[in-house]
Amino acid sequence: MKVAIITSGGDSPGMNPLIRYLTRALIENGYEVLGYKNGYKGIYNRERHTLTYDNVAGLLKIGGTILGTSRFPEFKEDPSVREHVKNVLSEDGVDLLVVIGGDGSLRGAYDLQKLGVKCIVLPASIDNDMYGTDETLGMHTALTTIQDAVDKIKDTASSHDRTFIIEVMGHRSGFLAVNAAIATGAEGVFIPEVETDVEELAKRLRKRYEEGRRNSIIIVAEGKASAKEVADLLKSKNIGYDIRISVLGHIQRGGIPVFHDRLLAFRLAMGTLKALSQNVFNVLVGVKKGDIVFTPLEKAVKNRKTLSQFLINSVYTFKWED
Ligand code: ADP
Repeated sequence: MKVAIITSGGDSPGMNPLIRYLTRALIENGYEVLGYKNGYKGIYNRERHTLTYDNVAGLLKIGGTILGTSRFPEFKEDPSVREHVKNVLSEDGVDLLVVIGGDGSLRGAYDLQKLGVKCIVLPASIDNDMYGTDETLGMHTALTTIQDAVDKIKDTASSHDRTFIIEVMGHRSGFLAVNAAIATGAEGVFIPEVETDVEELAKRLRKRYEEGRRNSIIIVAEGKASAKEVADLLKSKNIGYDIRISVLGHIQRGGIPVFHDRLLAFRLAMGTLKALSQNVFNVLVGVKKGDIVFTPLEKAVKNRKTLSQFLINSVYTFKWED
Protein backbone atom coordinates (compact mmCIF):
# COMPACT_ATOMS: atom_id res chain seq x y z
CA MET A 1 0.00 0.00 0.00
CA LYS A 2 1.30 3.44 -0.95
CA VAL A 3 0.85 6.49 1.32
CA ALA A 4 1.57 10.04 0.14
CA ILE A 5 2.29 12.93 2.51
CA ILE A 6 1.97 16.68 1.92
CA THR A 7 2.44 19.71 4.13
CA SER A 8 0.03 22.45 3.09
CA GLY A 9 -0.95 26.06 3.84
CA GLY A 10 0.70 27.97 6.66
CA ASP A 11 3.78 26.19 7.99
CA SER A 12 4.15 25.41 11.65
CA PRO A 13 7.03 24.18 13.77
CA GLY A 14 6.61 20.45 14.24
CA MET A 15 5.88 19.57 10.62
CA ASN A 16 9.39 18.17 10.15
CA PRO A 17 9.26 15.89 13.21
CA LEU A 18 5.86 14.68 12.03
CA ILE A 19 7.23 13.85 8.56
CA ARG A 20 10.03 11.93 10.27
CA TYR A 21 7.87 9.98 12.74
CA LEU A 22 5.17 9.22 10.19
CA THR A 23 7.53 8.09 7.43
CA ARG A 24 9.43 5.77 9.71
CA ALA A 25 6.30 4.37 11.35
CA LEU A 26 4.77 3.68 7.95
CA ILE A 27 7.93 2.06 6.58
CA GLU A 28 8.25 -0.11 9.71
CA ASN A 29 4.71 -1.34 9.03
CA GLY A 30 5.34 -2.23 5.40
CA TYR A 31 3.94 0.85 3.62
CA GLU A 32 5.62 2.64 0.74
CA VAL A 33 5.85 6.40 1.42
CA LEU A 34 5.85 9.29 -1.06
CA GLY A 35 6.18 12.98 -0.32
CA TYR A 36 4.88 15.63 -2.72
CA LYS A 37 6.48 19.06 -2.53
CA ASN A 38 4.56 22.24 -1.69
CA GLY A 39 1.14 20.91 -0.75
CA TYR A 40 -1.65 20.48 -3.30
CA LYS A 41 0.40 22.46 -5.83
CA GLY A 42 3.15 19.83 -5.80
CA ILE A 43 0.69 17.05 -6.50
CA TYR A 44 -0.68 19.10 -9.39
CA ASN A 45 2.88 19.56 -10.74
CA ARG A 46 3.88 15.93 -10.02
CA GLU A 47 6.77 16.99 -7.76
CA ARG A 48 7.16 13.75 -5.84
CA HIS A 49 9.94 12.09 -3.91
CA THR A 50 10.18 8.74 -2.23
CA LEU A 51 10.56 9.17 1.52
CA THR A 52 12.95 6.71 3.10
CA TYR A 53 14.13 5.90 6.60
CA ASP A 54 17.35 7.79 5.84
CA ASN A 55 16.11 10.88 4.05
CA VAL A 56 13.91 11.85 7.02
CA ALA A 57 16.84 11.55 9.46
CA GLY A 58 17.75 14.54 11.62
CA LEU A 59 14.37 16.29 11.33
CA LEU A 60 13.28 16.27 14.97
CA LYS A 61 15.12 19.45 15.83
CA ILE A 62 14.48 21.38 12.64
CA GLY A 63 11.72 23.96 12.10
CA GLY A 64 9.81 24.40 8.84
CA THR A 65 9.05 21.51 6.50
CA ILE A 66 11.44 19.69 4.16
CA LEU A 67 8.50 19.03 1.85
CA GLY A 68 7.81 22.73 1.49
CA THR A 69 4.33 24.20 1.53
CA SER A 70 2.31 26.65 -0.51
CA ARG A 71 -0.98 28.45 -0.90
CA PHE A 72 -2.62 27.20 -4.08
CA PRO A 73 -5.92 29.07 -4.52
CA GLU A 74 -6.53 27.47 -7.95
CA PHE A 75 -7.11 24.18 -6.13
CA LYS A 76 -9.93 25.73 -4.12
CA GLU A 77 -11.45 27.66 -6.98
CA ASP A 78 -11.17 25.41 -10.04
CA PRO A 79 -12.80 21.97 -10.04
CA SER A 80 -10.64 20.88 -13.01
CA VAL A 81 -7.51 21.49 -10.87
CA ARG A 82 -8.90 19.22 -8.15
CA GLU A 83 -9.80 16.61 -10.76
CA HIS A 84 -6.23 16.75 -12.07
CA VAL A 85 -4.84 16.31 -8.53
CA LYS A 86 -7.06 13.27 -8.07
CA ASN A 87 -5.84 11.82 -11.37
CA VAL A 88 -2.16 12.34 -10.50
CA LEU A 89 -2.66 10.52 -7.20
CA SER A 90 -4.39 7.67 -8.97
CA GLU A 91 -1.72 7.45 -11.71
CA ASP A 92 0.99 7.41 -9.01
CA GLY A 93 -0.81 4.51 -7.32
CA VAL A 94 -1.42 6.44 -4.09
CA ASP A 95 -3.86 4.61 -1.80
CA LEU A 96 -3.98 7.23 0.95
CA LEU A 97 -3.14 10.94 1.07
CA VAL A 98 -2.03 12.33 4.44
CA VAL A 99 -2.51 16.11 4.58
CA ILE A 100 -0.55 17.92 7.28
CA GLY A 101 -2.01 21.42 7.51
CA GLY A 102 -4.51 23.88 8.87
CA ASP A 103 -8.17 24.65 8.37
CA GLY A 104 -7.88 25.50 4.66
CA SER A 105 -5.91 22.33 3.93
CA LEU A 106 -8.58 20.35 5.80
CA ARG A 107 -11.23 21.80 3.44
CA GLY A 108 -9.08 20.83 0.48
CA ALA A 109 -8.87 17.24 1.77
CA TYR A 110 -12.64 17.15 2.22
CA ASP A 111 -13.03 18.22 -1.43
CA LEU A 112 -10.70 15.38 -2.49
CA GLN A 113 -12.66 12.93 -0.35
CA LYS A 114 -15.76 13.93 -2.31
CA LEU A 115 -13.88 12.94 -5.49
CA GLY A 116 -13.16 9.51 -4.03
CA VAL A 117 -9.60 10.08 -2.72
CA LYS A 118 -8.92 8.51 0.67
CA CYS A 119 -7.50 11.16 3.01
CA ILE A 120 -6.29 11.60 6.56
CA VAL A 121 -5.74 15.11 7.94
CA LEU A 122 -3.20 15.81 10.66
CA PRO A 123 -3.89 19.22 12.25
CA ALA A 124 -0.93 21.58 12.02
CA SER A 125 -1.37 25.26 12.79
CA ILE A 126 0.11 27.65 15.30
CA ASP A 127 -3.39 29.11 15.88
CA ASN A 128 -4.94 26.01 17.48
CA ASP A 129 -8.19 26.81 15.69
CA MET A 130 -9.16 23.38 14.32
CA TYR A 131 -12.18 21.38 15.40
CA GLY A 132 -11.57 17.78 16.54
CA THR A 133 -8.39 18.26 18.52
CA ASP A 134 -7.34 20.00 21.73
CA GLU A 135 -3.97 20.86 20.25
CA THR A 136 -2.62 21.62 16.80
CA LEU A 137 0.96 21.01 15.80
CA GLY A 138 3.18 24.06 16.26
CA MET A 139 1.14 25.91 18.89
CA HIS A 140 3.48 24.99 21.74
CA THR A 141 6.57 26.22 19.89
CA ALA A 142 4.84 29.40 18.74
CA LEU A 143 3.75 30.19 22.31
CA THR A 144 7.27 29.55 23.58
CA THR A 145 8.62 31.95 20.94
CA ILE A 146 6.05 34.62 21.85
CA GLN A 147 6.74 34.20 25.56
CA ASP A 148 10.46 34.60 24.98
CA ALA A 149 9.98 37.71 22.81
CA VAL A 150 7.56 39.37 25.25
CA ASP A 151 9.83 38.65 28.22
CA LYS A 152 12.62 40.46 26.39
CA ILE A 153 10.40 43.38 25.42
CA LYS A 154 9.37 43.68 29.07
CA ASP A 155 13.00 44.22 30.04
CA THR A 156 13.33 47.23 27.79
CA ALA A 157 9.81 48.47 28.61
CA SER A 158 10.79 48.56 32.31
CA SER A 159 13.91 50.55 31.59
CA HIS A 160 11.87 53.31 29.95
CA ASP A 161 8.49 53.38 31.72
CA ARG A 162 6.71 52.16 28.60
CA THR A 163 3.56 50.37 27.59
CA PHE A 164 4.20 47.98 24.72
CA ILE A 165 1.43 46.89 22.40
CA ILE A 166 2.53 43.53 20.96
CA GLU A 167 0.80 42.06 17.91
CA VAL A 168 0.73 38.28 17.60
CA MET A 169 -0.72 35.98 14.94
CA GLY A 170 -4.29 34.68 14.93
CA HIS A 171 -6.68 35.69 12.15
CA ARG A 172 -9.88 34.23 13.55
CA SER A 173 -8.71 33.03 16.94
CA GLY A 174 -7.39 34.74 20.04
CA PHE A 175 -5.81 31.51 21.26
CA LEU A 176 -2.19 32.66 20.93
CA ALA A 177 -3.00 36.12 22.33
CA VAL A 178 -4.87 34.93 25.44
CA ASN A 179 -2.35 32.23 26.27
CA ALA A 180 0.57 34.60 25.67
CA ALA A 181 -1.13 37.18 27.93
CA ILE A 182 -1.38 34.58 30.71
CA ALA A 183 2.21 33.42 30.29
CA THR A 184 3.68 36.93 30.29
CA GLY A 185 1.40 38.67 32.76
CA ALA A 186 0.07 41.13 30.19
CA GLU A 187 -2.26 43.85 31.43
CA GLY A 188 -4.66 43.63 28.53
CA VAL A 189 -5.58 41.57 25.50
CA PHE A 190 -7.45 42.25 22.25
CA ILE A 191 -8.94 39.17 20.55
CA PRO A 192 -11.59 38.54 17.88
CA GLU A 193 -13.86 36.63 20.29
CA VAL A 194 -14.71 39.43 22.74
CA GLU A 195 -14.77 43.21 22.97
CA THR A 196 -12.13 44.78 25.18
CA ASP A 197 -13.39 47.56 27.43
CA VAL A 198 -10.89 50.22 26.37
CA GLU A 199 -11.94 52.76 29.00
CA GLU A 200 -11.50 50.23 31.78
CA LEU A 201 -8.13 49.14 30.38
CA ALA A 202 -6.96 52.74 30.11
CA LYS A 203 -7.92 53.31 33.77
CA ARG A 204 -6.01 50.19 34.78
CA LEU A 205 -2.92 51.36 32.89
CA ARG A 206 -3.16 54.87 34.40
CA LYS A 207 -3.40 53.38 37.89
CA ARG A 208 -0.33 51.22 37.25
CA TYR A 209 1.54 54.26 35.99
CA GLU A 210 0.65 56.24 39.09
CA GLU A 211 1.68 53.35 41.34
CA GLY A 212 5.11 53.52 39.73
CA ARG A 213 4.99 50.22 37.84
CA ARG A 214 7.52 50.67 35.10
CA ASN A 215 6.01 48.61 32.31
CA SER A 216 2.73 47.41 30.91
CA ILE A 217 2.13 44.89 28.16
CA ILE A 218 -0.91 44.59 25.89
CA ILE A 219 -1.23 41.62 23.52
CA VAL A 220 -3.25 42.01 20.32
CA ALA A 221 -4.35 39.21 17.97
CA GLU A 222 -3.83 40.35 14.38
CA GLY A 223 -7.37 39.30 13.48
CA LYS A 224 -8.81 41.82 15.94
CA ALA A 225 -6.69 44.89 15.25
CA SER A 226 -3.17 45.98 14.45
CA ALA A 227 -0.80 47.04 17.22
CA LYS A 228 -0.79 50.51 15.65
CA GLU A 229 -4.58 50.79 15.86
CA VAL A 230 -4.56 49.85 19.54
CA ALA A 231 -1.69 52.26 20.22
CA ASP A 232 -3.64 55.08 18.56
CA LEU A 233 -6.69 54.23 20.69
CA LEU A 234 -4.69 54.32 23.93
CA LYS A 235 -2.74 57.46 22.99
CA SER A 236 -5.96 59.42 23.24
CA LYS A 237 -6.67 58.12 26.76
CA ASN A 238 -3.96 59.77 28.88
CA ILE A 239 -2.53 56.57 30.38
CA GLY A 240 0.72 58.26 31.44
CA TYR A 241 3.09 55.77 29.85
CA ASP A 242 5.03 56.32 26.68
CA ILE A 243 3.55 53.85 24.15
CA ARG A 244 5.48 51.66 21.71
CA ILE A 245 4.45 48.85 19.40
CA SER A 246 6.04 45.59 18.31
CA VAL A 247 4.74 43.24 15.61
CA LEU A 248 6.21 39.78 16.18
CA GLY A 249 5.41 38.53 12.66
CA HIS A 250 6.84 35.41 11.11
CA ILE A 251 9.28 34.49 13.88
CA GLN A 252 6.16 32.88 15.40
CA ARG A 253 6.17 30.22 12.67
CA GLY A 254 9.82 29.24 12.96
CA GLY A 255 12.23 27.69 15.39
CA ILE A 256 13.25 24.38 16.86
CA PRO A 257 10.10 22.40 17.75
CA VAL A 258 9.71 22.28 21.54
CA PHE A 259 9.15 19.01 23.41
CA HIS A 260 5.34 19.19 23.40
CA ASP A 261 5.16 19.67 19.64
CA ARG A 262 7.50 16.71 19.09
CA LEU A 263 5.34 14.58 21.36
CA LEU A 264 2.19 15.72 19.55
CA ALA A 265 3.85 14.92 16.19
CA PHE A 266 4.61 11.42 17.47
CA ARG A 267 1.03 10.94 18.64
CA LEU A 268 -0.42 12.14 15.34
CA ALA A 269 1.87 9.72 13.48
CA MET A 270 0.80 6.85 15.73
CA GLY A 271 -2.84 7.95 15.35
CA THR A 272 -2.44 7.60 11.59
CA LEU A 273 -1.19 4.06 12.03
CA LYS A 274 -4.12 3.35 14.32
CA ALA A 275 -6.54 4.61 11.66
CA LEU A 276 -4.85 2.48 9.01
CA SER A 277 -4.97 -0.59 11.22
CA GLN A 278 -8.71 -0.05 11.76
CA ASN A 279 -9.39 0.76 8.09
CA VAL A 280 -10.59 4.24 9.06
CA PHE A 281 -10.20 6.96 6.41
CA ASN A 282 -11.43 10.47 5.68
CA VAL A 283 -10.92 11.62 9.24
CA LEU A 284 -8.97 14.26 11.09
CA VAL A 285 -6.69 12.60 13.64
CA GLY A 286 -6.64 14.65 16.82
CA VAL A 287 -5.85 14.44 20.51
CA LYS A 288 -8.57 15.10 23.09
CA LYS A 289 -8.05 14.85 26.83
CA GLY A 290 -4.96 12.78 26.09
CA ASP A 291 -6.64 10.28 23.77
CA ILE A 292 -6.24 9.91 20.03
CA VAL A 293 -9.60 10.64 18.39
CA PHE A 294 -10.91 10.50 14.82
CA THR A 295 -13.33 13.13 13.54
CA PRO A 296 -14.92 12.65 10.10
CA LEU A 297 -13.66 15.34 7.70
CA GLU A 298 -17.21 16.48 7.04
CA LYS A 299 -17.78 17.11 10.76
CA ALA A 300 -14.40 18.82 11.16
CA VAL A 301 -15.19 21.13 8.24
CA LYS A 302 -18.68 22.00 9.46
CA ASN A 303 -17.79 22.86 13.05
CA ARG A 304 -15.70 25.57 14.59
CA LYS A 305 -13.52 25.32 17.64
CA THR A 306 -14.16 28.00 20.22
CA LEU A 307 -11.71 29.52 22.63
CA SER A 308 -12.13 28.47 26.26
CA GLN A 309 -14.62 30.85 27.84
CA PHE A 310 -13.07 29.99 31.17
CA LEU A 311 -9.71 31.41 30.08
CA ILE A 312 -11.28 34.56 28.64
CA ASN A 313 -13.36 35.16 31.77
CA SER A 314 -10.72 34.51 34.34
CA VAL A 315 -7.57 35.95 32.81
CA TYR A 316 -7.99 39.36 34.49
CA THR A 317 -10.61 38.69 37.13
CA PHE A 318 -8.85 35.81 38.89
CA LYS A 319 -12.37 34.60 39.62
CA TRP A 320 -13.66 31.11 39.09
CA GLU A 321 -16.33 31.68 36.45
CA ASP A 322 -17.03 28.43 34.66
P1 ADP B 1 -4.07 26.44 6.16
O1 ADP B 1 -4.19 25.00 5.76
O2 ADP B 1 -2.85 26.69 6.97
O3 ADP B 1 -5.34 26.96 6.79
P2 ADP B 1 -4.75 27.83 3.67
O4 ADP B 1 -6.04 28.37 4.15
O5 ADP B 1 -3.89 28.72 2.83
O6 ADP B 1 -3.81 27.30 4.84
O7 ADP B 1 -5.10 26.51 2.82
C1 ADP B 1 -4.08 25.76 2.19
C2 ADP B 1 -4.55 25.34 0.82
O8 ADP B 1 -5.71 24.48 0.96
C3 ADP B 1 -5.03 26.47 -0.09
O9 ADP B 1 -3.97 27.09 -0.79
C4 ADP B 1 -5.96 25.73 -1.03
O10 ADP B 1 -5.22 25.05 -2.03
C5 ADP B 1 -6.61 24.70 -0.11
N1 ADP B 1 -7.89 25.22 0.42
C6 ADP B 1 -8.07 26.23 1.30
N2 ADP B 1 -9.37 26.46 1.55
C7 ADP B 1 -10.05 25.58 0.78
C8 ADP B 1 -11.45 25.32 0.57
N3 ADP B 1 -12.39 26.02 1.21
N4 ADP B 1 -11.77 24.34 -0.30
C9 ADP B 1 -10.82 23.63 -0.94
N5 ADP B 1 -9.49 23.83 -0.79
C10 ADP B 1 -9.10 24.79 0.05
